[in-house]
Amino acid sequence: MSQLTVSITSSQIEVYRALLLDKKRFLRAGLGLKRDSGNENQRINEEDQAQSSHDEFLALSLNNLDYTQLRLIDAALDRIAAGDFGVCLDCDEEIPERRLKAIAWAKYCVKCQDKSYVEDEE
Ligand SMILES: [Zn+2]
Repeated sequence: MSQLTVSITSSQIEVYRALLLDKKRFLRAGLGLKRDSGNENQRINEEDQAQSSHDEFLALSLNNLDYTQLRLIDAALDRIAAGDFGVCLDCDEEIPERRLKAIAWAKYCVKCQDKSYVEDEE
């Protein structure tokens, strides 16, 4: 049996996805990017997302750090959608699970993170 380098399972991906969406919701709330009132239970459609991007742009000057993290989270969600989540963008190595658990939106493995720039790690 051969195995790809990425050993992350789809159920794990779902956990990270939920985590990312949760964090995203939290950050958006912190940035004051709330949904239209009375619209809470509706799924965000694409028009709303376009509107959100605009709101996020406005929020940029208000809270740059949270906004940056929001972008990282969106990028991570994009990678989940693209199927390459959990892989270092620099060296293509799999990002260790314990790192992803701490920072699900990590783009790089620890090694590459150190040699490039500090992301959003506390
Ligand atoms: Zn790397």
